[in-house]
Amino acid sequence: MSSAPRDYYTVLGVSRDVDAAGLKAAYRKLVIQYHPDRNPGDAEAEARFREATEAYTVLSDEERRKRYDRYGHAAFGEPGKSPFEGGDFGSVADMLEGLFGEVFRRRKKHLAKDLTYDLTVSFVEAALGAEKKIRVTRSVPCMSCRGTGAAPGSNPPPCAECKGTGETKLKRGFLSSTRPCVACGGKGVRILEPCPSCSGRGKEKREDELTVRIPPGVQDGAVRTVRGGGEIEPDSKGDLHVTVHIEKHPLFERDGADVRMTLPVSVPMAALGATVEVPTLEGKVQMKIPPGTQSGKVFRLRGRGIPVFGGAAKGDQLVTIQVEIPQGLGRKHRKLLEELEESLPADAHPVRAAYLDTLRKLGL
Ligand SMILES: [Zn+2]
Ligand SMILES: [Zn+2]
Repeated sequence: MSSAPRDYYTVLGVSRDVDAAGLKAAYRKLVIQYHPDRNPGDAEAEARFREATEAYTVLSDEERRKRYDRYGHAAFGEPGKSPFEGGDFGSVADMLEGLFGEVFRRRKKHLAKDLTYDLTVSFVEAALGAEKKIRVTRSVPCMSCRGTGAAPGSNPPPCAECKGTGETKLKRGFLSSTRPCVACGGKGVRILEPCPSCSGRGKEKREDELTVRIPPGVQDGAVRTVRGGGEIEPDSKGDLHVTVHIEKHPLFERDGADVRMTLPVSVPMAALGATVEVPTLEGKVQMKIPPGTQSGKVFRLRGRGIPVFGGAAKGDQLVTIQVEIPQGLGRKHRKLLEELEESLPADAHPVRAAYLDTLRKLGL
């Protein structure tokens, strides 16, 4: 890593006003990507992991974050020096487990890698929930040798280097870890006769169809985990971490559990009242616009919003009226409007009448 530390918000890829949940989600994504256990021997990944952990440690602490916002990296010592340089993170593994639960618990010796996937769902799917099928290409044990890498029927002797355990213990820096034995690639045996169908790798690529359950009301950027959806080793399965991206809707916008939309209506509709069809997440409904409805008025369609609490309740749909003033009028319509203006009594426009009255009182 270069000597000058990068901005913590940049490191985590978040905006400066990110809240605690957003911070955690961003950090989680980076941990999944760069955790040393998932990237054995990858110095770049480890550096990114350290950097993200440092950034998260500072920004997740209210006091530290305030100081950082004011003074930048200088808040923690000499400028340009990271607060954790050369130091110890303490128990990073414990912190991760506390934060994210079992996802980061140590697994068996042939740790199958997790995979990530970016899934885009429609606004309506995200609001109501959905089951999405996705196709994932992943590494699985070779069928012919069952992942051993040895030719079927051959009887490979144990690896002398690791005495058949398949792993080497390492303690480096702030994390101790076990690494697959280099001599045997973690297999624990010395393969003299490689499996012909996988050339001794013990693995093959396979495309699988997996189902991702999208819960109603899912947030943009949420990560859904498909257990066992990652790479497969003979004795373990990785998970698949699916980041959910929500498409914009041309009419709807989300506001917590409510759905907002703007409904353009004409001046006669607003003045005379009308019954209009309004689209909702689940089909059209009739909505009454009473006579004299003003622009900006919000109507609430109860229970037409996003399901919450596992479907026990639902948000509303909020419809904002936008009265559209006619444009590009020809002679005939100008005349009609002029006649209307002249014939309308003052109390047809009470707000304007009150305004004119105020002007008069102020002598303006
Ligand atoms: Zn094979
Ligand atoms: Zn070995």
